[in-house]
Amino acid sequence: MKKYELSTLTNRLSGPASKAWDVGDVASKRMIEGEDIIHLGVGDPDLDTPAHIREALFKAVDCGKTHYAPLAGEMHLRDAIAEHAMGLYGGKISSENVVVCNGAQGAIFATFQCICETGDEVIVLEPFYAPYPAVVTAGGAKMVTVALNREEDYRLDMDKIKEAVTDKTKAILINSPSNPAGTVFGEASVKQIARYCYENDIWLVTDEVYWSLCFDGDHISPYGIEKYRETIIVINSLSKSHAMTGWRLGWAIGPVDFIKSMTDYTQAAQFGINQFVQNAAIAALKDTSTTDQFNELFKSRRDVFCDGLRKSNHLCFSTPRGGMFVLLDISATGLSGKVFAEKLLDDEKVAVVPGFGFGQSVGNTVRIGYLCGEERLTEAASRIVRFAEKVLRGN
Ligand code: PMP
Repeated sequence: MKKYELSTLTNRLSGPASKAWDVGDVASKRMIEGEDIIHLGVGDPDLDTPAHIREALFKAVDCGKTHYAPLAGEMHLRDAIAEHAMGLYGGKISSENVVVCNGAQGAIFATFQCICETGDEVIVLEPFYAPYPAVVTAGGAKMVTVALNREEDYRLDMDKIKEAVTDKTKAILINSPSNPAGTVFGEASVKQIARYCYENDIWLVTDEVYWSLCFDGDHISPYGIEKYRETIIVINSLSKSHAMTGWRLGWAIGPVDFIKSMTDYTQAAQFGINQFVQNAAIAALKDTSTTDQFNELFKSRRDVFCDGLRKSNHLCFSTPRGGMFVLLDISATGLSGKVFAEKLLDDEKVAVVPGFGFGQSVGNTVRIGYLCGEERLTEAASRIVRFAEKVLRGN
């Protein structure tokens, strides 16, 4: 046996997602060197965290909130999350149903450690958020993908999902509004999947980090249906709703026993979350005006950007109904998403993410974030359209 050998886990962690950001990294490097690039390849709003939340953080530090926090999270924050959740989903939710985590990412990773093991299967809808394969398979579970169709606006196809279920299916993971396609699931399909999971003893893990960015009506969560809550786990954070990506503050909501296991996991993995960040997060949860403003802003950006893309007769996409991204099908150009993204950066100085990280069925797409001001977005759309036309003309 070799003296120096890494675990098999490292292979599961280093899937296509780990390469999906390469074009964006090259773009960022060139921007530091002074190149004028429109970077639409990151999932990070270009907005500052609102001032009153920043002030709450300084105050928390000044008041000595610089110690270890309780492992499941600061009691006042867990109460505030429970109250916030009752506002969103209705019914009774207590702090016992809440565990504070290191962003939604930390919450979702811990969740799959706590609910799955080797031999289990997890159904993931494709296109999916690029880190899902690593998250789902890290603990040994197998990921089973169900590809949704662009032509059907990536609707939640229950028949396809049921076909993929076996006696090993332990969980189904959904994400609405979705990254990368901006899909928002409607009430009937959300109800259907919640009921199906409940009746078949399958966990329904619902990643709702974009809940506040819904452009055509309210966000619908399966957790809104109280009778099915026993098998539902909600993942959420302040990253997108309050422009707080760097604060790394998220949570999971679920049954009390699950929360206890998540708390044990937290002890092993991080021994709690920064105390001052948690105290400032309470100020964020009490603020609804920011989420409304951001929703209006991203809706208007979506409109401007999609109008620009529609000038092409060859590029196709499902209009995003929420979130921050559009998934653009570039197959008409004959290029893969990877080559399209690389050449677009070189020729037109626009950075986007190649689709291969979001699943095998979307290798011929690129993900574009409408993450800057409208003037730049209009310019980016016209460069993308111009580039596609140029490729089609063969020069
Ligand atoms: N889920 C999805 C679908 C995401 O897009 C992201 C962030 N890009 C996360 C989870 C992780 O969010 P957080 O910053 O709260 O860890």
